[in-house]
Amino acid sequence: MLNIVIFGAPGSGKGTQSEFIVEKYGLNHISTGDVLRAEIKKGSELGKQAKEIMDKGQLLPDDVIINILAATLDSFKESKGCIFDGFPRTIPQAEALKKMLAERGQQVNVMLDLDVPEDELMVRLIKRGQQTGRADDNEATIKNRLNVYHSQTQPLVEWYKKEGLYSHIQGLGSLETIFGDICKAIDGK
Ligand code: AMP
Repeated sequence: MLNIVIFGAPGSGKGTQSEFIVEKYGLNHISTGDVLRAEIKKGSELGKQAKEIMDKGQLLPDDVIINILAATLDSFKESKGCIFDGFPRTIPQAEALKKMLAERGQQVNVMLDLDVPEDELMVRLIKRGQQTGRADDNEATIKNRLNVYHSQTQPLVEWYKKEGLYSHIQGLGSLETIFGDICKAIDGK
């Protein structure tokens, strides 16, 4: 089993690099943001709750996200492992993931921190908003998401360093170079 946390600020390239990792290592991919966007499309109760919070650039409550994650994890049969994209985003979520995997006789093998300077994140997200129409990729919401990232999510860097799972990845450069560095970090674990 290979379980990978792909970590980084909004716009750091987690989704793109996750696709490459899935293809090479044959893992399941869990993106909590994608699950929530699918719920919004369906018009479910969860989707309605999620939309309000996502439009403000804030985080959903930990218990809601942890339940989504457990249900998604249990839906995978015969899995070689998972890539967790956009989760965990808080320390309670990281603790819940550790417990959830331990209960299944598993663990996180590596945490990849995609490091991209703030001005570049802004440029990428505004461009993505123009190209995809993604509702939370507008300047005001991006600023909130980056603030939330710094205050609630970035402390996980220290948390994963203490766990001995942290790998720094330079997130600027060609997609191929970044993916090469990611493979080295995964294969070295
Ligand atoms: P993402 O697609 O990962 O950038 O997520 C988009 C939005 O979904 C975030 O700004 C949050 O509002 C919500 N979200 C996604 N993952 C989580 C999570 N692990 N915890 C709380 N909220 C989340």
